[in-house]
Amino acid sequence: MYLSIVVPCMNEEDVIPTLVARLSAAITPWCDSSEIILVDDGSTDGTWEAIQDARLLCPDVVGVRLSANRGHQIALTAGLEAATGERIMMLDADLQDPPELLGDMMSMMDQGYDVVYGRRIERQGESLFKRATAYAFYRLLNAMSDVPIPRDTGDFRLVNRTTLDAVLAMPERARFIRGMFAWAGFRQIGIEYTRAPREVGETKYPFRAMLRFAVDAMTSFSTKPLKLATRLSFASLGITALMAVYVAYSLILYQTAPGWASVVLAISFFSGVQLLTLGIMGEYIGRLYVEAKNRPLYFVSEELRDTPSAALRKSA
Ligand code: UDP
Ligand code: MG
Repeated sequence: MYLSIVVPCMNEEDVIPTLVARLSAAITPWCDSSEIILVDDGSTDGTWEAIQDARLLCPDVVGVRLSANRGHQIALTAGLEAATGERIMMLDADLQDPPELLGDMMSMMDQGYDVVYGRRIERQGESLFKRATAYAFYRLLNAMSDVPIPRDTGDFRLVNRTTLDAVLAMPERARFIRGMFAWAGFRQIGIEYTRAPREVGETKYPFRAMLRFAVDAMTSFSTKPLKLATRLSFASLGITALMAVYVAYSLILYQTAPGWASVVLAISFFSGVQLLTLGIMGEYIGRLYVEAKNRPLYFVSEELRDTPSAALRKSA
């Protein structure tokens, strides 16, 4: 069995030695050969040097360096495109997802599953805010999404070649990888684990990035927000009708011009609804624009491996 491990790394210099040591220890009993693909997502610290050092110690390490920071999901895509294994495991650099779960994942796959994903039943060492937003996010996403996306599931998963090739054949730019795997289908199963606290360093997902990620996820997997705009406009029309009755009633009863309050109320309410609707349209139109540009997702500036992968040849 030839296994590829894919790890996106942004400013993770401190964790790389531990990461590689724990990965090699976890892999050895389960496969004859392996590659550990570490993608340097435009780090500003010594991550690339750490990857080079790791390769000296462990020749299975493959380094892929992106020309600039492209974000977690794109760095992961770059690593997946560089992977050559029959089975591919992906995980975060910070060791929040235990590589030791590989054995269980491998035996599930031996039973005939194409995808074995990790489901976190508990998150240690993460702020209440992060846990609460993550909880709300996965529930809202499922309420909105057209395909069921497993809850509390990150990118930690083991997939086989067939499924990976299917996902890599999806050309979209706004990549929400866990959703793309869910959409791809095949036989999937979850395996529960406790999410450990980050080994070292701090989260690379500030609130802004989390929000962006959530909007990408919703709009990539659902057209329901567009329908929501239509529903909202129905509701606002209904309210307009009620207001018209009220205005007519007070005109007749009090013989007064309708008060400025209701005018101001109406204007602000309807401009709010219009702005919201426009905003939702804008999200989709913006996405169409980005997809239509059809730019390469990333460029590889350096690669450390014996035979250059397709990704490197493509950008050369
Ligand atoms: N990451 C990346 N590019 C980015 C942000 C994050 O490659 O722009 C990597 C990061 O190095 C880590 C993984 O994505 O391996 C998940 O990030 P993090 O652990 O900070 O997220 P959290 O677990 O806090 O959600
Ligand atoms: Mg993390």
